Amino acid sequence: MSDPVPADAQPIAGPKPLFGRVVVKLSGEALMGKGSFGLDMPTLLRIAADLKAAADLGVQVAVVVGGGNFFRGLEGADKGIERARADSIGMLATVMNALAMEGALEHLGQSARVLSAVAMPSLCQPYSRQAALAHLVKHRVIMLAGGTGNPFFTTDTGAALRAAELSCDAVFKATQVDGIYTADPKKDPKATRFERLSHDEAIDRNLAVMDTAAFALARDNRIPIVVFSIHEPGAIRAALLGQGRATYVMP
Ligand code: UDP
Repeated sequence: MSDPVPADAQPIAGPKPLFGRVVVKLSGEALMGKGSFGLDMPTLLRIAADLKAAADLGVQVAVVVGGGNFFRGLEGADKGIERARADSIGMLATVMNALAMEGALEHLGQSARVLSAVAMPSLCQPYSRQAALAHLVKHRVIMLAGGTGNPFFTTDTGAALRAAELSCDAVFKATQVDGIYTADPKKDPKATRFERLSHDEAIDRNLAVMDTAAFALARDNRIPIVVFSIHEPGAIRAALLGQGRATYVMP
């Protein structure tokens, strides 16, 4: 008799994804829907369904979530809160989003775990590379909260860092538009979209889609960055299959 199939096992069948293990970077803003603060439940569930569809391809999915829908350190510092303290508040905001997304994933039947770079063991597991890898191979979607765990960084840099240390094949950066443009397409009608470009080009052109530290970390570790629109349902799965509209930043 064959071994029983573990409850968490996901068969890899159907179309073949381009990447086997990815970090998806979700900004806090993506979770607000049309609102201007906090969480929009239909949006949370739609994005959870997109993450589940990616995991259903057999791809191992780690999500680094931002906190800008609740608090950003720089904005707090502008209001007079000491920067390091303001960043601590920002990191706590990312934990709220991660817990909310974990709940949405579990609601859809997708096993998920929050791992936080800022230890708060009564709420979620502290982040460690070993724990993250153990969850990924069991096809749990992991929500990586707390960014890098240090002030003066962003969750974009956290995404590149986790992609490097977890040997991910790509960073999937969800944005408000369907790729990287020569200028902000919402402000400049002449802006054109890149299909593909290198990390150096993105840094040299100062394309504001991710911060320079994140681009440089991805470049030095030869990690592709795939930029796509979070507003397009099914976009994560499509980009994993090389379909849909996205910009591929390749070494
Ligand atoms: N943050 C931090 N260290 C990190 C990641 C994030 O201090 O490694 C803080 C920082 O204050 C930041 C906030 O958490 O403004 C929320 O993260 P971010 O701005 O990257 O969120 P997003 O814009 O993606 O929603």
